[in-house]
Amino acid sequence: MILFFRSKTLAVFLFLFIIILSSVLLSGGYQVSNQNEVIISFPRNLNLESLMRLFPLDPLMIEGEKIYFLIDQQYLSSIKEAGYTFTLENNRFDWPAKNSADRKFHLESGLNGAYHSYSELGSALKALATAYPGLSRLYILGKSLENRNIYALKISNYQAVKENKPGVALLGCHHAREWISVEVPLLIADYLLKNYNLDTHIKNIIDSAEIWIIPLVNPDGLDYSIFNYRLWRKNRRFNPDGSFGVDLNRNYSFAWGYDNEGSSPEPSSDLYRGPGPFSEPETLAIKNLFQNNHFSAAISYHSFSQSILYPWGYANLPAEKEDLFQQLASTMADLIYRVNGRRYEVGRASASLYLTNGNFTDWAYGFFQIPAFTIELPPIDLLQGGFFNSQEDIENIFKENLPAALFLAEWAISTYVKPSIPESEAKEKSDKNKQKIIKKEIYN
Ligand SMILES: [Zn+2]
Repeated sequence: MILFFRSKTLAVFLFLFIIILSSVLLSGGYQVSNQNEVIISFPRNLNLESLMRLFPLDPLMIEGEKIYFLIDQQYLSSIKEAGYTFTLENNRFDWPAKNSADRKFHLESGLNGAYHSYSELGSALKALATAYPGLSRLYILGKSLENRNIYALKISNYQAVKENKPGVALLGCHHAREWISVEVPLLIADYLLKNYNLDTHIKNIIDSAEIWIIPLVNPDGLDYSIFNYRLWRKNRRFNPDGSFGVDLNRNYSFAWGYDNEGSSPEPSSDLYRGPGPFSEPETLAIKNLFQNNHFSAAISYHSFSQSILYPWGYANLPAEKEDLFQQLASTMADLIYRVNGRRYEVGRASASLYLTNGNFTDWAYGFFQIPAFTIELPPIDLLQGGFFNSQEDIENIFKENLPAALFLAEWAISTYVKPSIPESEAKEKSDKNKQKIIKKEIYN
């Protein structure tokens, strides 16, 4: 596999790149006007792996017979000395328009290194479901706009037909460029399954709860970020004004469109909330999952900033259960800190981050009254790499988040009260759900 981001120095370069890019997107065209970064291209039949091992190149894309990179110009002479021939592309590079329907730029093999693309994730989930048939089942919750599967791996001991256990949902990648948010829930799933027979602590969790792993809410966006445009955030909705994408974490129905600060009515905005709540199949899939199952707690992983956020996000108001949320989030932050010494700030989403309406956690709490957290994974800021986590840090980020997720699952188990719906209604509901779910089940 090709390495993508290999050093902190590169992360700093990328920070500069983001700054340049932001001004470019605002001004409408690409020009490398300052700093030391330049765009160079090589013939596409080049051995990328050896080239990228030697130099801190940031791959941009493949177009036609060329592959393009961003690099600090101080390396240009050493690249030449190493025998590589390149073309300096400065000032005539036509950056792919953010909202262009024209997909002429396309990386044919994603430069995502250890990070999972949509298809790689599908294979990984299928492999887990196949390896642990007694403990896991893979579901397709729905299809994305571009017909990719929204996968959910349910982890449970499946002892009863109607389990009547608390559900805990771990979601990743509402936002395409937040690649690390796919890896954390996936690695948690892997850990739970591998340790069921080795660790009584894990066995108890799987025996007493249903853990739903939904690592990739936005598959179209993720692949677009991998293959076309690294900083893509939204899904790939083609909007009436010719722009692309709805921000899936502004498309849930609770306080949808509450104001134009927490989300945007403008289709071209990165915070576009869509034409209506649940207008997008990706959020609708999550809605159906929650309506057809009993959930007691949820974590939605994002990046970056190292924080644990709880409702409300739509307005700077305390949730009725804020004391509980604060307490759970603080315990999770302490557990995280103990692993690698990284401090995650804890707070009300609206006060700690910025206003967001139509987001997942407000919806999960607003409609189901459950604790729902947004965990913004490392790094802490743009200077440390922003959306660009080094792949060497994946394992550390997973390891520090594991005890927090286990703690929340144990809290859900210890506080679970069986739903008090009448028996007949419960049976009807259960049969209906079973039908729905079984139809969608594809493995085991
Ligand atoms: Zn996000």
